[in-house]
Amino acid sequence: MSTLAVKLNGGTADISDAAVAELRASMRGTLFCASDDGYDSARRVWNANIDRHPALIARCAGVSDVQQAILFAHEHDLSLAVRGGGHSAPGYGTNDGGLVVDLSTMKGIRVDPVNRTARAEGGALWCDLDHETQAFGLATTGGTVSNTGIGGLTLGGGLGWLHGLHGLTIDNLLSVDLVAADGSLLTVSDTEHPDLFWALRGGGGNFGVAVSFEYKLHPVTTVLGGMLLYPLDRGGEVLRLYRDFCPDLPDEAGLAAGCLTGPDGTAVAGLIPAYTGDIDTGLKTFARIEKELGQPLLNTVGPMTYAARQSLLDEPNAIHGLHRYWRSAFSETLTDKFIDTLVEGAGNFGSPRDAFLLFYLNGAATRVDPDATAFAARKPQWDFDAIGCWENADESSERIAWVRELWQRVEPELEGTVYLNHLSADDLPEKLRASYGSNYQRLQRIKAQYDPDNLFRHNANIAPA
Ligand SMILES: Cc1cc2nc3c(=O)[nH]c(=O)nc-3n(C[C@H](O)[C@H](O)[C@H](O)COP(=O)(O)OP(=O)(O)OC[C@H]3O[C@@H](n4cnc5c(N)ncnc54)[C@H](O)[C@@H]3O)c2cc1C
Repeated sequence: MSTLAVKLNGGTADISDAAVAELRASMRGTLFCASDDGYDSARRVWNANIDRHPALIARCAGVSDVQQAILFAHEHDLSLAVRGGGHSAPGYGTNDGGLVVDLSTMKGIRVDPVNRTARAEGGALWCDLDHETQAFGLATTGGTVSNTGIGGLTLGGGLGWLHGLHGLTIDNLLSVDLVAADGSLLTVSDTEHPDLFWALRGGGGNFGVAVSFEYKLHPVTTVLGGMLLYPLDRGGEVLRLYRDFCPDLPDEAGLAAGCLTGPDGTAVAGLIPAYTGDIDTGLKTFARIEKELGQPLLNTVGPMTYAARQSLLDEPNAIHGLHRYWRSAFSETLTDKFIDTLVEGAGNFGSPRDAFLLFYLNGAATRVDPDATAFAARKPQWDFDAIGCWENADESSERIAWVRELWQRVEPELEGTVYLNHLSADDLPEKLRASYGSNYQRLQRIKAQYDPDNLFRHNANIAPA
C-alpha cells in the first residue's frame, strides 16, 4: 500500500493513499497533492518569502468540503492551516507537510440592499465584496488593499478608511457561519453562541473556519482620497504635523502617513488623507496640511469612487509573489526620536517597495468598550508597519536583517502591543497576550470550549485553558 508523508501536530506519519482518495472523493472542490497539476500555484501565498509545501491542499467548494477537510485533519491529527485571501505576512495561510483548507474559490456574495446587509463566503477578497455592495452604493469597513481576504481581516478586527465613521469591520459583523473543530456547522451571532461571537470579533482564526460572514452596510458613494508627497528631508516636519493633526480628526476622516518611494524613484514622506462625506467639508478638513506645509511635490487628493480609494495602496501591496518581511506595533504616542529614526531609515531603503506606514485608529472604532469584543485596542492610537519588500530570494537575509535592525531602534519608542493581524513570527508570545489585555483569559476559556485540542493553531494562537 502506498502512503503520503504528512506532518502531524506532534511529529510526522504516513497516511495511506486510500485515505487521501477517500477525502478526494468526498469533496466537490479539488484536493491537491504535490504530484498534481496545479499544486505549485495552489501552494503559493501573497508573501513569496513564505515558501511552504503542504502535503494536501483542500480547495473547498462549499461548507461540506470544509467539514470533510476538518474532520480529516482531526482524525489524522494533521497540522492544519486555513487560507482565506492568503495575505498573512507570517504565512498563517499555509504550512509545510500538513493540510491547507483553501477557501479561495468560495467567494459567493449576496447583498440585501433593502436591509443594507451582505453575506459573503469566507474566501472573498475586499475587492469582491466592495464590487457587489457598491452596485447598490453601499459598503462596510474593509481593508485598504483591495485583494486582502475578508476572512483573516474580519476575524482579526478590521481597520480601514471607514472605521472612524462606522467602526471596525467586526463592529459591522452581524453573524458568522463557522465550521468548528468537530466539523459541526454553527451559526454564530449576538443571540446564538454569543460567547463565541464575542471571541470571533478579534480572536482571529482560533475558533474554526468562517465559511461566511454577514455584514451591516452603509451608504458610501463618491469619497475623498489621494496622496500628498514631500521631499524626505522634510519628513520630520511632515510626520510631526501628522502626529499633531490626527487627534483632531472628525469621524468622517482618516489619515495615514509614512515614508515610501515617489514616482521619480527617490524616498519621500507622504500623507494619505481620506474623507467619507461631503467633499467640500473634507477638503476644508485637510486644508491645514497645505497651510502648514505649503506645496507638496505631488498632490493627488480629490473626489474618487469608493472602489478607487479601496485600491489606492495596491501598488505594490497587492502584488502576489514579492518577498516581504513585516514588523508592526500599536502606539499611543509618536516620539520625536521615533519620527527621526524613520526618516533616517527611509534614506536607506534597499528597494523602492520598502515602506514605513502609520494608520490612525479613531472615531467609532475607539468608542466601543475594550471588553465588548475580543479586540481590546479600543483607543486612539497608531498602527505602525515597517515593511521590507524585495524581488529576489537571494536578497532575503540581507533585507530581513535591515528591517530587524530598524525595528530594534524604533521598538523602545513603541508600546509593546500590536494589531494582531500584523503580528510577526518574530514577536514574542508576551506581545500577543499584552495585545489582548484582560480579554486574553476569556479567549482561552472559549478556545478550550470550542477547540480544546488546538486544531486551529497556525495563527496568532490562543492557548486553550
Ligand atoms: C498588503 C496588506 C494590506 C493589509 N491591509 C490591512 C488593512 O487595511 N486593514 C486591516 O485590518 N488589515 C490589513 N492587513 C492585515 C490583514 O488583515 C491580515 O493579513 C489578514 O490575516 C489577511 O487575511 P487573509 O484572509 O487574506 O489571510 P490568510 O493568509 O488567508 O489567513 C490569515 C489568517 O486568518 C485565518 N483565516 C483567514 N480566512 C479565514 C476564514 N474564512 N475562517 C477562519 N480563519 C480564517 C487563517 O487561518 C490565518 O490564521 C493587510 C495585510 C496585507 C498583507
